[in-house]
Amino acid sequence: MKYQEIVNKIKESPILLIGIGNELQIKAELTGEAVDSVEYARKLCQLAGQGEEGTVLKQYLDAYETIRRLTDGKDYFIVTTNIDGMVERMGFDTERIVSPCGSVYRMQCEEQEHGVWNIEEALKGEKALLCPVCGKPGKLNIVRNKPYNESGYLKQWEAYTRWLQKTINRKIFLLELGEDFETPTVIRWPFEKIAFINQKSAFARVNSRLPQISEDVKERAFSVKESSIDFLYQISELLNG
Ligand SMILES: [Zn+2]
Repeated sequence: MKYQEIVNKIKESPILLIGIGNELQIKAELTGEAVDSVEYARKLCQLAGQGEEGTVLKQYLDAYETIRRLTDGKDYFIVTTNIDGMVERMGFDTERIVSPCGSVYRMQCEEQEHGVWNIEEALKGEKALLCPVCGKPGKLNIVRNKPYNESGYLKQWEAYTRWLQKTINRKIFLLELGEDFETPTVIRWPFEKIAFINQKSAFARVNSRLPQISEDVKERAFSVKESSIDFLYQISELLNG
């Protein structure tokens, strides 16, 4: 069975690279707010840790818990194109995650040189979200808010690049979860390339609509046509068993 095979491969691999995409982003409907709004960020902050049994939110939290269990004892890195900040708050080592499309827990000033600041504490209260340098209202530090201030993620991107270099020719499992084609240069294409170059790698692409894998890497890859949430549920059952 495919799930068991994937679990076995992950267990065998000391190194794990995880890509998390759109299927695992907390949907706007769950918050009642537009994904790029400060209100979405504020709702996410309130929702955190409140996923009751049977709710859709609980399915997301369970999915992340399964990912967290997969990283136990591994040399891992997580790259996400999501902006919901979930990887930043689900118990992962913050030195091992990068979110190059931004995060709703960061804000930027229209003056690029004023940088990026963390707003998680401010979101919990009703504090105004003002630039600490000039006092003007900020915008969320996410890629669709132009000009996008890349200083919010570049330090972690450099850490990711250094980490990747150390994985060359080593046994690595690449787990791509629910990534679409909006920004394929971040996860989809690089993961395929790594799987192609590193002959000791194994690769699983999980996606309900776009699980296709290039011919070049097929022999080392699993294409799983299933939503990432359902896939992770199946995986968690096997980890429990
Ligand atoms: Zn400013």
